[in-house]
Amino acid sequence: MDMLVVGSGFFGLTIAERAADAGRKVTVIDRRHHIGGNAYSENEPTTGIEVHRYGAHLFHTSNPTVWEYVNRFTTFTNYVHRVYSTHNGQVFALPVNLHTINQFFDSAYTPDEARALIREQAGEFDAKTAANFVEKGIALVGRPLFEAFFAHYTAKQWQTEPEKLSGDIISRLPVRYNYDNRYFNDTWEGLPTDGYTAWIERMADHPNIEVKLNVDFFDESQPLNKKALVGQLPIVYTGPVDRYFDYAEGELSWRTLDFEEEVLEVGDFQGTSVMNYPDADVPYTRIHEFKHFHPERKDVYPTDKTVIMREFSRFATRDDEPYYPVNSTDDRSGLLAYRELQKGESDVHFGGRLGTYQYLDMHMAIGSALSMWNNQLNV
Ligand code: FAD
Ligand code: UDP
Repeated sequence: MDMLVVGSGFFGLTIAERAADAGRKVTVIDRRHHIGGNAYSENEPTTGIEVHRYGAHLFHTSNPTVWEYVNRFTTFTNYVHRVYSTHNGQVFALPVNLHTINQFFDSAYTPDEARALIREQAGEFDAKTAANFVEKGIALVGRPLFEAFFAHYTAKQWQTEPEKLSGDIISRLPVRYNYDNRYFNDTWEGLPTDGYTAWIERMADHPNIEVKLNVDFFDESQPLNKKALVGQLPIVYTGPVDRYFDYAEGELSWRTLDFEEEVLEVGDFQGTSVMNYPDADVPYTRIHEFKHFHPERKDVYPTDKTVIMREFSRFATRDDEPYYPVNSTDDRSGLLAYRELQKGESDVHFGGRLGTYQYLDMHMAIGSALSMWNNQLNV
């Protein structure tokens, strides 16, 4: 073994694939029973409908290097993601666009009129100097739309005072003064034609890669553990950074999700893949209906059944799978302290969403793994 990769999500697998291609013998361990991390999907057994086990995953990127790389392992469908939001018993299109604005204000504004209205409603804050999620949100869409679509949704999703959250979270979503309601702005988007798991398995399918599942790096009763291996060979670690150091600088806050899956005896439950619920009186944040991700599979999927999943968000304890770094103002000093500790670790490279405590999308995890390989490991 020339290298150990801890975690078989997109970050870990990209490193493993690149290293294997360069002739290194790589072992990848994961404490779960499957590879792929949070992008893992499997077919619901009674309907055959592909379910993204850890919540809906939509691939999108504007990075040509990443796009070329991922196309080595899978083709993509022409699926274009659109999200709707049910507020006060009415359905609106997201991200906020001219249709949302006109429906919400019961008007027929032109783009310039809508811009002028939102400018007036957003005037209390400036997007360039906004200090947190609330200020940034109001600066972008004005207070009425912020309160309808973002304030309660975000409170449910992050369970953190929105004033303590970073404004970058809301900057993920565009605001448009036309009727374009594509959720993403990226050059390329789509879903892997034969599913996430087929894509992920192709990345790991190399004679120089050995994958070992149900193996925890911190379990000293098995040989591939931290105590035995740090300093012996290059290690790429993609688990939670606070766990690596046994929480020496305190726990960082993470969010986890609970999913409630149901197979329903109806052909179509909500008419779209994702419906958000931004009101405070609905306990879940969104409902996914998986058959809508693959309209091209209509001859294969049942016409009288569907699979839905309600998503509930809460703080992660040490025993939960951490999904999202909260990165509140309180977490930032802890993170800096962990970054200092990392410098003392010999040939251990921290990567991915959990290892860097960053809100990375798949294309960002893959892009940063390619950079780590080129700049730090393949030297
Ligand atoms: P992960 O996929 O989290 O992989 C880390 C792996 O490390 C896990 O398999 C874990 O079991 C393993 N591990 C941790 N600790 C240990 C240990 N001690 N020993 C052994 N193994 C360990 N991105 C998009 O581009 N589009 C989306 O629509 C999208 N939606 C998302 C929805 C949700 C609910 C979530 C949670 C994420 C979403 N993402 C999305 C982000 C996407 O999942 C990540 O960008 C991607 O999975 C990052 O990969 P990773 O390798 O960094 O981490
Ligand atoms: N958001 C919101 N209302 C919505 C959709 C998103 O308030 O209907 C906020 C929320 O804080 C979320 C952020 O915008 O975390 C980014 O949205 P995105 O859809 O990218 O979140 P993710 O898919 O990562 O959960």
